[in-house]
Amino acid sequence: MQESVYDVVIIGAGPAGATAAAMLAKAGKRVLVVEKQQFPRFSIGESLLPQCMTFIEEAGLLDAVLENAERLGFQYKAGAAFYHNGNKVDFDFRKKSSAGPGTTYQVKREHFDQLLAQGAAEKGAEIRHGVALEAIDFSDPDAVKLHLSSAAGEYEAKARFVLDASGFGRVLPRLLSLESPSDFPVRQAVFCHIKSDLTGGEFDRTKILITVHPTYPDVWYWLIPFADGTASIGVVGSADYFDENDSEKEALWKLVAEEPYLLEILGDYRVIRDEQRITGYSANVNRLFGERYALLGNAGEFLDPVFSSGVTIAMQSSSLAVPLVLKELNNQPQDWQRQYSDPLRVGITTFRTFVKGWYDTRFQDVIFYPNQQQQVKEMICSILAGYAWDTNNPYVQNSERRLNVLAELCG
Ligand code: FAD
Repeated sequence: MQESVYDVVIIGAGPAGATAAAMLAKAGKRVLVVEKQQFPRFSIGESLLPQCMTFIEEAGLLDAVLENAERLGFQYKAGAAFYHNGNKVDFDFRKKSSAGPGTTYQVKREHFDQLLAQGAAEKGAEIRHGVALEAIDFSDPDAVKLHLSSAAGEYEAKARFVLDASGFGRVLPRLLSLESPSDFPVRQAVFCHIKSDLTGGEFDRTKILITVHPTYPDVWYWLIPFADGTASIGVVGSADYFDENDSEKEALWKLVAEEPYLLEILGDYRVIRDEQRITGYSANVNRLFGERYALLGNAGEFLDPVFSSGVTIAMQSSSLAVPLVLKELNNQPQDWQRQYSDPLRVGITTFRTFVKGWYDTRFQDVIFYPNQQQQVKEMICSILAGYAWDTNNPYVQNSERRLNVLAELCG
């Protein structure tokens, strides 16, 4: 099959790919999204941050999300709760220092991702499911050639610009040797979905609950309720805390059994999506762009799940990249380092500081400090709500130094 040249081909229809596709289609560009899987499909990454609502709105997809939230069981989310050995601290995202939305949703990604992809298609993006990018050829100055495969066979598509939003598929990093080691140690997450009304203990459905293991501060659990009486539960830690002979089921429930607070909330539960494990998800690249391509979302860098930042970073990358792509298509070469990579890394660096501080417990000391100043709490709350690019926030500007000072005061 020989095809005409698309303005942009996007690899992957996750949050990064779908929002970028909607933004480009809205701007009148001819966009093809190739997505390896058939939707709806499961994905991890279910707790959104309020900051991402601004990108969903920018993509023209906010009405679709709001109108379908109840039908699809999206759980209204207004904050995060942290628990460790009897200490419980709540962050209400509406009480943050940065401007912007203070609430969002916890979503089953099979529904959320499908909704965004459908929204992008309604704006004119062409989305082909069951199609994977296998190889790419930049040798023709007029068009990038993409070698695609589907059940029907192999064929070629051409594009003036390519956005890699393939997430953990990391297609261009692999094909173009862009991968570089993450500076995070290898950790694993074991998780499943349960049916439970979560009324066994004291629990606020409008917040994600992050619980720290009673003995090991670098092991933590998430509890993410959905609005349909189901929930996502998971535990994260390094291999040291898991018996390598354990099945996923044993690995998850052995560690949950060590946290009575969480067990009580779960009450009578039933597993409705089998336990699953992901190991070594942190990833990095040595560059986020090149001539006629850029990496979005997890295809670039992924840090850690602890602050639910993945989807927000993915959508922020689309929001930063799309205006540059539009100018490139207009034959105006852009400074991708200064206008894309550097600004994107502002927020990633902020999250990196707080993720590192979480695992070495500096940030846990701050979170669980009983007499936190209101103003400081609002700034920390901003970051937890995803406003990690708000350079008016001193904890964004000088994240490492500020965290160290604060941790010393609270420690
Ligand atoms: P993805 O969502 O991974 O989408 C990529 C798409 O590309 C997929 O649909 C895939 O099928 C497709 N693809 C792959 N290869 C190819 C190919 N060769 N050709 C065509 N298509 C291809 N984030 C949050 O915001 N909140 C959370 O609570 C959260 N929890 C997490 C928990 C864990 C344990 C982990 C590991 C991550 C978590 N994340 C969370 C991160 C989140 O999952 C990701 O950051 C987010 O999904 C990234 O979006 P994306 O669009 O970049 O990639």
